[in-house]
Amino acid sequence: MITPRIPRPNIHEFDFLVVGSGVAGLFAALHLADRGTVALVTKDELTECNTEYAQGGIAVALGRDDTPADHARDTLEAGAGLCDPAAVEVLTREGPAAVEELMRLGMRFDRKAGELVRGREAAHGTRRILHASGDETGHEVERALSRRASVHPSITILDRTLMTDLLVVEGRCVGCDALALPDGERMRFVAPVTILATGGLGQLYEVTTLAEVPDLRGGARRGRGAAQRRGRALHARVPPAE
Ligand SMILES: Cc1cc2nc3c(=O)[nH]c(=O)nc-3n(C[C@H](O)[C@H](O)[C@H](O)COP(=O)(O)OP(=O)(O)OC[C@H]3O[C@@H](n4cnc5c(N)ncnc54)[C@H](O)[C@@H]3O)c2cc1C
Repeated sequence: MITPRIPRPNIHEFDFLVVGSGVAGLFAALHLADRGTVALVTKDELTECNTEYAQGGIAVALGRDDTPADHARDTLEAGAGLCDPAAVEVLTREGPAAVEELMRLGMRFDRKAGELVRGREAAHGTRRILHASGDETGHEVERALSRRASVHPSITILDRTLMTDLLVVEGRCVGCDALALPDGERMRFVAPVTILATGGLGQLYEVTTLAEVPDLRGGARRGRGAAQRRGRALHARVPPAE
C-alpha cells in the first residue's frame, strides 16, 4: 500500500488510537488510559457528536423488580424479529454494569429522594428508563465523560482533527492519517491498537435527524454498500425524519 510522505514531526506514536469522541470513543479512551497512552482524535469540537444530542433515556434493568432477561424479552418482542438476539443479550446483560460505571465516572441521573427515577416507556414491561435532566441524557453523558478524558494524564485529545484514512500494513491496521482543521496540515497517528468510534450511518441517507459529524470517511466508508442493503429498516430513524 502506498502511503503519503508525512514530515517526521507530524508523526505521533501512542499505545492506543481512538477515533471519535461520542460515548463510544470517550468510554473506550477512559478504559484504555489505565494501560497506556491514548490519542483521542475527533474531527470537530470534543463534544460535537450524536451523543450530545440524544434526548431519550437509557433503558437498563437496575431495579430489584427487574432482570436483564426480562429486559431482553421485552426488547426482542418490540423488535418484531429484526433484533439480533446475541446483540440484545450483550446489551441487556452488560447494561447495569455500564450504567454503574457511567455514574462512577461522574454522570448524574435524575433521582427522587436519593433513588434513581425509573420511567416506563414504549414496549418496556416495567420501569427501567433512566434520564438525566429530563431530556438531556446524551448531553450529561458527554459532559461527564469529556470532562474526565480532558484531565486524564494518559489521554491526548486532538480535536478538529479529521481522520482521512486508516494506515494498513500487511493487512493490519497500525493507525491513521489525518488532517488538522481548518488549515489542513497532514498528520499521522501510529498505534498498535486502533478503535474506530466514528458513529453511525445516518449520513448515508438524504434525510436524517442525526448529526453530520459521522461522515463515513476512512475505513467506515468501505462498508457503505453492505450497510445500505442490511440496515435500511433501522438506520436514520432516531428520532424519525420525513
Ligand atoms: C436527536 C437524537 C436523539 C437520540 N435519541 C436517542 C435515545 O433516546 N436513546 C438512544 O439510545 N440513542 C439515541 N440517539 C442515538 C445516540 O445518540 C447514538 O446512538 C450514540 O450517541 C452514538 O454514539 P457514538 O459514540 O457511537 O457516536 P457519536 O456520538 O456520533 O460520535 C461519533 C464521533 O466520531 C467523530 N468522527 C466521525 N468521523 C470522524 C473522522 N473522519 N475523523 C475524526 N473523527 C470523526 C465525530 O466527530 C464524533 O466525535 C439519538 C441521536 C440523536 C441525534
